[in-house]
Amino acid sequence: MPSLLLDNIGSLVTNDPALGEGPLGLLRDAAVVVDGGRVSWVGPAAAAPDADARHDAEGRAVIPGFVDSHAHLVFAGDRTAEFAARMGGQAYAAGGIRTTVAATRAASDDALAANLERLVDEAARQGTTLIECKSGYGLTVDDEARALKLAHRVTDEVTYLGAHVVAPEYADDPAAYVDLVTGPMLDACAPHARWVDVFCERGAFDGDQARAILSAGMARGLTPRVHANQLGHGPGVQLAVELGAASADHCTHLTDADVDALAHGQTVATLLPGAEFSTRAVYPDARRLLDAGATVALSTDCNPGSSFTTSMPFCIAVAVRDMRMTPDEALWSATAGGAAALRRTDVGRITPGARADLAELDAPSHVHLAYRPGVPLVRTVWREGALVTAAR
Ligand SMILES: [Zn+2]
Repeated sequence: MPSLLLDNIGSLVTNDPALGEGPLGLLRDAAVVVDGGRVSWVGPAAAAPDADARHDAEGRAVIPGFVDSHAHLVFAGDRTAEFAARMGGQAYAAGGIRTTVAATRAASDDALAANLERLVDEAARQGTTLIECKSGYGLTVDDEARALKLAHRVTDEVTYLGAHVVAPEYADDPAAYVDLVTGPMLDACAPHARWVDVFCERGAFDGDQARAILSAGMARGLTPRVHANQLGHGPGVQLAVELGAASADHCTHLTDADVDALAHGQTVATLLPGAEFSTRAVYPDARRLLDAGATVALSTDCNPGSSFTTSMPFCIAVAVRDMRMTPDEALWSATAGGAAALRRTDVGRITPGARADLAELDAPSHVHLAYRPGVPLVRTVWREGALVTAAR
């Protein structure tokens, strides 16, 4: 792959305070050189070295590609009617997941793969260069393992979520389902996943069940992450911090003790505003977490039931408008924050040695992502140095 000089960048977000201004490490009139899929040089355009090829950013903003650390992309079926009913006043409950489980089990590998690839492409066109992907719509040994193998086709960040809800066959015996998830299903799934996750919520799994599931996964070399405190207060956040989970996701209903635990532990608070948007729920309070000192990530939670968006720019706009984040904080959380939630240091930043994941915006500044909500501002995307989507 020839080296590439991205020249004449009006505003460059590096996410390295050593390279530029503020926490975003902002550089004006900047340039970046990409070589062998990595960033090899970052600095003032006037000092840029030569490269094999040149891309003129014409004064536009360049940011790190978004790191979407929470997505459910292996599924079939459609829940349009459920969404419409909810917008008509019906309450959201975790059990709607079972509708997608039936459709997913019935779908062919090819159909699931096609839907998965379509969603990853859709995300990439909006600037996402790394996306996590969970199982959780199979809920049998074979269907969960199949989902993880399919997810591996599109990402290394694969999460075993056999504990999404209790499988319908086990509705009368949830303890037996936990035995399956921590036994034969884990045996089949652990070789294909990096992470283990659980939906710790009323209507899904309680604190004791979640602890058993995460501990079993950890014993097989998986690292925990937790769906926590989405629909109400619960033990999920405290359990995530206690077990050293990489991330507690949702964090919508938090006590002071929950906030304190996140501020002092090693667990990132991943906020998923698409879920509150699509269930017409109260948004999490990012400001409270940031002021306490917690690390905050933003992610889409893309799934067919409660948040059917792949758009990180949409999540940024909502986070700024309704979750008391500044535009700078939201951009950081959607890039470096997502990287932290996946315990990655090679993505979410534009620094020498980092993976060459970059997005050029049709705007002079990253602030436009919130300032111009709903406008398709992502113009050009490079993933590992390769052009993913070019200017229209
Ligand atoms: Zn989720």
